[in-house]
Amino acid sequence: MSFRFLRPDSNSVWNNTEIKQRFSRYRSIIHNNSFSRYIIAKSLQCDFDSDNQLDALEELHKEKSEQFKELLALDNSQLKKRATFDSNYLTLNHKIAEKYLEDCIFCERKCKINRIDGKKGFCLVSEKTFLASAFLHYGEESVLVPSGTIFFQGCNFGCVFCQNYDISQSWKDIKDISETARSINGRELSEVADRLASKGALNINYVGGDPIPNIHTIIENLLYQKNNICQLWNSNFYLSNESLSLLVDLMDFWLPDFKYGNNECGKKYSNINNYYDILTRNLKRIHDDGSGEIIIRHLVMPNHIECCSKPILDFIANEIPKCVVNIMGQYRPEYQAHNFDEINRRPSSDELVEVKNYADQLGIVWKPVS
Ligand code: SF4
Repeated sequence: MSFRFLRPDSNSVWNNTEIKQRFSRYRSIIHNNSFSRYIIAKSLQCDFDSDNQLDALEELHKEKSEQFKELLALDNSQLKKRATFDSNYLTLNHKIAEKYLEDCIFCERKCKINRIDGKKGFCLVSEKTFLASAFLHYGEESVLVPSGTIFFQGCNFGCVFCQNYDISQSWKDIKDISETARSINGRELSEVADRLASKGALNINYVGGDPIPNIHTIIENLLYQKNNICQLWNSNFYLSNESLSLLVDLMDFWLPDFKYGNNECGKKYSNINNYYDILTRNLKRIHDDGSGEIIIRHLVMPNHIECCSKPILDFIANEIPKCVVNIMGQYRPEYQAHNFDEINRRPSSDELVEVKNYADQLGIVWKPVS
């Protein structure tokens, strides 16, 4: 059966003028009228010595990032004429990611442990990347299906209500992860992505757990992928400034969670410091300096309308207005949520209506993807 019968909205959503306009480049990649960013990155020559110190590589990266933005302004016929280079903007990003792994600062926890030496930080992900599953996902937002979704084991958060705790949290208790999950390198990951593309995926969707601990493998896989297909970052978005610098030019589409409208709720339910400050900083950056093609997922939590949902929607309306929002009503008290009375139930229909009405008052686009 065609997926269009399963999800007719995946077709009709493109009749919406706002969606067409806000996701124009994504749509253009789907129709092969634009190149995905990782392909363009291969045409930007970057000569560097692998033994260079990290600060020299970061300095070069800043300069090349400016040049990359100029390439994005070229049309397809101009881009097609460009040569590709063995040493290019992608290889530079990959080299820097490997350096960050030696003193891990992929996320704002900044554990600063050497994962190449076998040390593990909060996420307990070693230098290896473990694949949980990969398949064509028909349950994602209308514009994304079918989505070539790749789930990684491990997460840098510790959400008490985690709905994917089997791959995010519980696997941490397994003594030898290699007995239950498959480790995968960048080249193998690219084969998974290419297979999903050949089956009709509209995008390659990196998720977990969370993809953040696996940035090095994900960038490495871009060196080998063969298809012109949208690269999509689906994450809790607690990236460090440094690692976001590696991704901001390479990803075509962003699917961040935005759960809490203040730092305190982030600390209480996800064991995260400065949640709101980090999220708003990162979201502003992808909105202003990245592709700007973003669907924010906001999971409405019971008893958190005033402290979380409304401040989040205020921020989106005022600071990152190009975003489209998925207002999600599927919160349920999973994992350890029963230890917290105030979140130990589903959100009520009144709470959901209140959030949706508030989004409407602010002029936020949410209906086509919620
Ligand atoms: S990804 Fe984050 S939690 Fe994991 S080791 Fe690196 S800094 Fe720590």
